[in-house]
Order: sequence, then C-alpha cells, then structure tokens
Amino acid sequence: MKKVIALVAHDDQKVNMAEWANKYREHLSKHNLVGTGGTCEAVENITGLRVQALGHGPDGGDIVIANEVLNGNIDILIFMIDVRTPHGHEHDIQTLIRICVLKDVPIALNKKSADLMFSFEIMK
Ligand code: PGA
Repeated sequence: MKKVIALVAHDDQKVNMAEWANKYREHLSKHNLVGTGGTCEAVENITGLRVQALGHGPDGGDIVIANEVLNGNIDILIFMIDVRTPHGHEHDIQTLIRICVLKDVPIALNKKSADLMFSFEIMK
C-alpha cells in the first residue's frame, strides 16, 4: 500500500539522510515523499526522487509536518536530528516528536532505526 513518508534532517545529518534515501531509492519511489525544504533538496539531488517540500524546518516546516501528522496524513517520519547543536526551533522539533508519539506514527531518529523500519513488516 502506498504510504506518505516524511523526511526531515538537520544540517549535519543531510548527507546521512540523502545516503540512506539512496540506499532505499527503489522502495521509496513507490511511496509519496514529503519533507522540510533543505532535506527535500538534499534527497532529490542525490536520489532523483521527487520529495514535496512543506517549508524550511527552522521557518516552521517542522510544525507544518506535525500538523500533517495530526491530520492523519503522514504514515512514517524519518527524522535525523543533530543532537550536538542547539536549535532556534527546538520547540518545533520537540513538538514534531511529541505529535508522532501522540498519534502513534512510527518515527526513526537515526539511520539504524530507519533501516529497521524498512526491513520490517511496516513497509509491506
Ligand atoms: P530543512 O529543515 O530540511 O528545511 O533544512 C530541517 C530542520 O531543521 O528541521
């Protein structure tokens, strides 16, 4: 079944995200992809996949994605976060994580978790 997969990566994780997405390119191409602006660009450049941008993360993109999760429009979130750098939009990051937990939407916060998700039932 076609899913909506959201991709968000902080700056120091964009290469990680793009490499991860490239590894699962074939699989991801069967689903609808959305994400924050900078992440979409990084993933599109490496994979050639179309990823719909829902706004730059620090400018409210995380909140737009959280709203989509609240409305039941996102099935999975891959959220590769930079845990070393303080962010001006820290509250937005916490909100996005909180809303995924609240709505029981699967969320991977690092590459291995994302690998596990994609090797599991959830994607079938
Ligand atoms: P970006 O945002 O993909 O637009 O760079 C990511 C974030 O900081 O949440």
